[in-house]
Amino acid sequence: MKCYECAKEGKDTDAVGICIACGRGVCKEHLIREETPAWEGSYPIELKPDIEHIKRIMCQSCHEALKENCLFNEVC
Ligand SMILES: [Zn+2]
Ligand SMILES: [Zn+2]
Repeated sequence: MKCYECAKEGKDTDAVGICIACGRGVCKEHLIREETPAWEGSYPIELKPDIEHIKRIMCQSCHEALKENCLFNEVC
């Protein structure tokens, strides 16, 4: 799988992870690994409290969307 963000910039980079939210591939430069609430990527967004504190991989777009909407209420 190729990095989606890189593909948008016309680059061809192998993905090292998969965004938990959108399922797109992300390379090491574009992935964000953070403790996030569990989100299964479906709408409406239903977040479950992150009791396990697992660092999950997200792409930048999904991460920004989550931050903007302050869906990290407990953390942001
Ligand atoms: Zn990339
Ligand atoms: Zn994503």
